[in-house]
Amino acid sequence: MSDETREAPLDRVADFPAIPDGWAYLDTAATAQKPQVVIDAIARAYGETYATVHRGVYQRSADMTRAYEAARNSVARFIGAGTPDEIVFVRGATEAINLVAHSWAATQLKPGDRILLSMLEHHSNIVPWQMAAERVGAAIDVVPLTADHRIDLDAMARMLTPQHKMVALAHVSNVLGSVLDARRATELAHDVGAKILLDGCQAVPRIAVDVAAIGCDFYVFSGHKLYGPTGIGVLWGRAELLAQMPPYQGGGSMIDRVSFAKTTYAPPPGRFEAGTPHIVGALGIAAAIDYVEGIGLAAIHAHETALVRDARAALGAINSVRLFGPEDSAGIVSFAIEGVHPHDVGTILDEERVAIRAGHHCAQPLMEVLGVDATARASFAVYNGPRDIEALVRGVERVTRIFG
Ligand code: PMP
Repeated sequence: MSDETREAPLDRVADFPAIPDGWAYLDTAATAQKPQVVIDAIARAYGETYATVHRGVYQRSADMTRAYEAARNSVARFIGAGTPDEIVFVRGATEAINLVAHSWAATQLKPGDRILLSMLEHHSNIVPWQMAAERVGAAIDVVPLTADHRIDLDAMARMLTPQHKMVALAHVSNVLGSVLDARRATELAHDVGAKILLDGCQAVPRIAVDVAAIGCDFYVFSGHKLYGPTGIGVLWGRAELLAQMPPYQGGGSMIDRVSFAKTTYAPPPGRFEAGTPHIVGALGIAAAIDYVEGIGLAAIHAHETALVRDARAALGAINSVRLFGPEDSAGIVSFAIEGVHPHDVGTILDEERVAIRAGHHCAQPLMEVLGVDATARASFAVYNGPRDIEALVRGVERVTRIFG
């Protein structure tokens, strides 16, 4: 173990009731386990303070509305948004990207325009753009990766043209943990007049994010990877961009006035929150933010970086293991064992009480670049410690023994 993990173990496993003793949960990049404080906040919201928001004339509803809007405030502060009106609550990152790919693209893209993505994107940052491009007759270009599996920003600089209207990139890769230089990517996009959307799903639980300092135009993430509940996520967009965008879905809450002659819409963020929102989800994400901020993202990042370094060193010392991604990956290690399908790796590790993910991780174009059908992926969080790496390595050694 490195000195950092030995000396300063930030091991919060006791905060997580669903992690039994001796179970190494290494699938946080898929979804994070929930700390008791988040579970309590959700239970309190349903069990003590529950009511609808924005419509009730009674006190309970006014209180819940205040709590819901306070959650929006927490999110805004957490990512450095200018105002809470720039925070749209959605179901998750997938819905957030679809919202932008529909609503922004509908008015801002025209035939012949181009969208720039990268080879390491999650399907949810590819398919919505393909659908948008098809609708308007735009084209998609794909930035390659560097030899150490980062988005190649030098190549991106050469590829960008004034025809590019949108650049959409992962802030942290869900397969490789590679961290994007988000400021430089933003500058490059803006140099040609393009907007930039960052997929922050894997970034917000791992590194401090400040959208104002980055200078980007849209930022999206899911609550469930940030120790919060499923079914809630965030779209942040610059106020002036959100104001130009037509609604994504129609219904209650998103209107100013409805008549059969003409309906007018509420300003953002209400315009994009049709229907009764995931009220308790918003309170849950606020509790998750409190939890993460209580530990501090700098401490979380240092902890996960040290775990990654130790895991890479230990796995890399096993002959048949091939590691993917950069050395300084944020919290995620993808690997393959020669001659063994990652699903078999996952199954044998499960027998050893180690939970990893095996598959294409919703990044099939990246698998092609890596020259594999699938990888095994271990991802780390505040509840992991050196014992989880030891269990992982023990399990991988057993796999190599079984497969000779
Ligand atoms: N982008 C990235 C980088 C992800 O890791 C994920 C989840 N695996 C998503 C987008 C999609 O998030 P969700 O399924 O929560 O909408």
